[in-house]
Amino acid sequence: MFINQTYIEGLLEEARHTDDKTISAYLDKAERFEGLRHQEIAALLVQDKPAHLARIFEIAGKIKQRIYGNRIVLFAPLYVSDYCVNRCAYCSYNCGHSFSRRKLTMEEIREEVRILETMWHKRIALEAGEHPGECPLDYILECIHTIYAMKSENGEIRRINVNIAATTVAEYRKLKEASIGTYILFQETYHQPTYEKVHHAGPKRDFVYHLTAFDRAQEGGIDDVGGGVLFGLADPYFEVLGLMIHNEHLESRFGVGFHTISVPRLCPAAGMRLEDFPHLVDDATFTKLVAVIRLAVPFTGMILSTRENHEMRKKLLRLGISQISAGSSTEVGGYGKRKRHEEVNPQFVVNDDRNALAIISELMDDEFIPSFCTACYRKGRTGDRFMRLAKSAQIKNVCLPNALTTLCEFALDYGDPAFKEKAAQAIRRELPEITNPKVRVLTEQNVENIRQGGRDFFI
Ligand code: SAM
Repeated sequence: MFINQTYIEGLLEEARHTDDKTISAYLDKAERFEGLRHQEIAALLVQDKPAHLARIFEIAGKIKQRIYGNRIVLFAPLYVSDYCVNRCAYCSYNCGHSFSRRKLTMEEIREEVRILETMWHKRIALEAGEHPGECPLDYILECIHTIYAMKSENGEIRRINVNIAATTVAEYRKLKEASIGTYILFQETYHQPTYEKVHHAGPKRDFVYHLTAFDRAQEGGIDDVGGGVLFGLADPYFEVLGLMIHNEHLESRFGVGFHTISVPRLCPAAGMRLEDFPHLVDDATFTKLVAVIRLAVPFTGMILSTRENHEMRKKLLRLGISQISAGSSTEVGGYGKRKRHEEVNPQFVVNDDRNALAIISELMDDEFIPSFCTACYRKGRTGDRFMRLAKSAQIKNVCLPNALTTLCEFALDYGDPAFKEKAAQAIRRELPEITNPKVRVLTEQNVENIRQGGRDFFI
């Protein structure tokens, strides 16, 4: 098995003896955008010296700026079913908890999606508990087909990422055929004893089956996979190394590692108490983890959800986060309930409950470019093809134009006059950053076409 507890614990022990000169050499390597091997990552993770920490943050900021520029990709989760057969200690969907469970009908899915479209979301993460009887793969596939088939006046979901339980190669193949974007699955914890302690019963209790899910996804043709751990379950340094070793395993076996890494932190939820989890991660450590991951895998997107509060999100956007959720509901049917002002019962409590427009406006004020781009997977730029692009200087000539055209659409369709003006200024400011003159001219034309009423131009 590619995750070996004793090996990771040994790495962390050894890492504590790394001298300053070696740390500086690792940081120099990170500053050249070369990424880091897990041994090097261990040495940075355990660092507490202010001078080294300051350099870690400085380099994380540089990588973020150089590779991702000012773009921040936006998405929202869509919970379709809360039936679950697992007993996970941290999750309110635990089958031992009693509440009235449901899954959305196709009509209800359409209602939720119409609301998400009014928030101008183009990209969603479809979420469900694990229940082969109530929520079989055929139901998930029906949800995906229903959502892709919808198109309202200005709204359209163009990319569905899927976060559902580990499954078989045959089922992953069907998900691939349904044109999903990224298949997302959090390992929750790479520390097997903790994994078995917090997953009391159900298919998810099988550590190895869960850990090898991405291998099966790749075998089923899904080359875009997104990993993550639920920070708060076990030693966070152990978890980051687990993630990095998992990534190296996928790279060596399939030629491509994680497309994205999510960094969820444990939140309060019905049926659990945070006090029962001895490894909760404080803000300072969490900030360091995010920055070290940015140094370690500079070309892997990093996702932060509304589990984090406004202040943390603002800070981490500068240190490596490239994708955030906005206006999220973590409840089945939650968008409709919110619109009808009904009482909510979320999977866990979010810490950034501002609406999507408020988040987007603030991004603009902070000179970020909110991006609703979904072009890569629609153009077949997934897996190693995406990674090749990310590693080349060409990313600015693809992602930035697409970010600007989707921002232009957003402003025209949903912005008030002040927002429209802000977006126009941002587009004028960023256009010269497109280095390829032909692409710059094409983007200017696309922006003009959108102003004349055209939609969905992408490169
Ligand atoms: N059922 C799927 C599976 O088995 O992986 C995943 C869907 S679940 C809706 C998405 C994620 O929510 C889980 O992987 C877990 O990391 C996260 N989650 C569950 N309870 C949480 C809590 N109390 N705080 C923060 N995140 C939580």
